[in-house]
Amino acid sequence: MNELINFYSKFFKSIGCNVQQRERELVVSEIPANFEKFSGKKGPYFFSFDREREGYEYVSQSHYLVKTIKEFLEGRGETTLLRIDFGINFKEEIPKRIPFLNSEIRSINKNSTNRFIFKFSFATTFQYLNEKETVINQIYVLDNKIIDFDNSLNLAEGNKRDFQEVSAEKEYSLAREELKKIILPKTEELKKKLGEQLNNEIARINQLYQNNLSEVEEQENSLKKQIEANREDRDKVKRLNKMLENLNENSNKNKIKEEEQEFIQKEIRKHGLKIDTKLVNTTIIYFPFYNLNLTMEVEKNNLKIIELGYDPLKKIVSPVHCKSCGKEVKEIILCSSGHITCRECGDKCASCGSVYCKSCQTKKCEECGRTLCSHCWNRCDACGKIFCDYHITKNNGKKICKSCERKQVKIFRI
Ligand SMILES: [Zn+2]
Ligand SMILES: [Zn+2]
Ligand SMILES: [Zn+2]
Ligand SMILES: [Zn+2]
Ligand SMILES: [Zn+2]
Repeated sequence: MNELINFYSKFFKSIGCNVQQRERELVVSEIPANFEKFSGKKGPYFFSFDREREGYEYVSQSHYLVKTIKEFLEGRGETTLLRIDFGINFKEEIPKRIPFLNSEIRSINKNSTNRFIFKFSFATTFQYLNEKETVINQIYVLDNKIIDFDNSLNLAEGNKRDFQEVSAEKEYSLAREELKKIILPKTEELKKKLGEQLNNEIARINQLYQNNLSEVEEQENSLKKQIEANREDRDKVKRLNKMLENLNENSNKNKIKEEEQEFIQKEIRKHGLKIDTKLVNTTIIYFPFYNLNLTMEVEKNNLKIIELGYDPLKKIVSPVHCKSCGKEVKEIILCSSGHITCRECGDKCASCGSVYCKSCQTKKCEECGRTLCSHCWNRCDACGKIFCDYHITKNNGKKICKSCERKQVKIFRI
C-alpha cells in the first residue's frame, strides 16, 4: 500500500504537480493540462489510500488512475519549462552575504544571464515472473553535475522567450548513468531473489525427474527379475518382454532427461528480469546569475560604483579581490576612490581620516612625512613640493609652504 502512495506521489511530482501528503492522503494540484486531458479528469485531486473519506477518492490497486498513469508513462517524454522565482530584495540580501564595513548601498543596477538545471524523470519498469513494478526517479543536473534540488524553492511557469534553445544531451547521458547507479541495488536484489527461486525450481525439477527415472528403473528391474524367474514359461516370458518393451518405449530415459532440460530452460526464461526505462519528462528549470552594479556611498556624498556577481541558488557572492594585492576578501572596505581593499593595503589619510589604498595616488608631506590622500595634499606654489594642510599656508588662493614663507619674509625685509 505504501508503494502505491509513493508511486502516485512521485508520479505527480515528476510531471510538475504540487503534491501535499498528509499521512495516507494526497492532495495533488497544479496538474499540467496535458495530463488532465489524458486522464479526462480536472484537478485538484484528493486521494485517500486506506479508507473511504468524504471528499476524497479511495485509491486501491484497482483505481482507474493506476492504469491511466501507466499508459501516460508509455507515452513520449514531455518537456516542461520552469523558472525559479527567488524574489530577492538585493539591498537586504547582499550585505548578509558580504559585509560592507565603511560604505552603504544607495542603488543597484542588475543584469543577469540564465543558468539551467535539467530535471529528468525516469519511469523504470521491472518485469519478472508475474510481477510488473514501476519506479519513478528524478535526477537533477546543473553545470554537468548531479545535484540535490531544494524543493522549497518557488517555481513559476517559464517562458521560451526568456532564453535561446538549450541542448540537454550531455546532461541526459549523465542522468542515465546516475539512474543506473540508483536502480543497481534493486536490480541486484531482484536478481538474487530470482536466482534463488530458480535454483529451488531446478532442484524441484531434478528431484521430480530423478523420482521418475528411479520408478522406471524399478519397474524395469522388477520385470527383468520376473523374466529370469519364469524362464521356463515361454508365454509368460513373451508377455513380460512385451511389457518391458512398452515400458522402454513410453518412458525412454533419454526422453525423460530431454523433458527435464526443457522444463529447466522454461524456468530460466520465466525467472529472467526485464528492465525497461522510459524518460517521462524533461524539465528545464532556469534561474538568473546576477551581475550587479552597486552604487555605494563611501563617505557623505562620495558615491562609487562596484561590481559584484551573485548566485541566488547558492546564495553566494562571486569572489571579491583586493584591487592592490589581489587577495580574496571576505568583507568590503572601499577606499575614498572606490577601490576594494584588504586591511593590509588600506590605511587612513593622516589629514582627513578617509581610507586610501595602495592603488590610490598618495603623497607624503615634505615636512612631517605623513601620508596624504589625493584630496589632502597641497603643492607649494613657490617650491612645488607637497605638504599637509598643517604645513602650508593658504592665502588669497595661493599656497605657500612654511620654509618658502620664511624666505619670502627675508626677501621682503631686505
Ligand atoms: Zn591588499
Ligand atoms: Zn585626506
Ligand atoms: Zn584606493
Ligand atoms: Zn605635514
Ligand atoms: Zn615651498
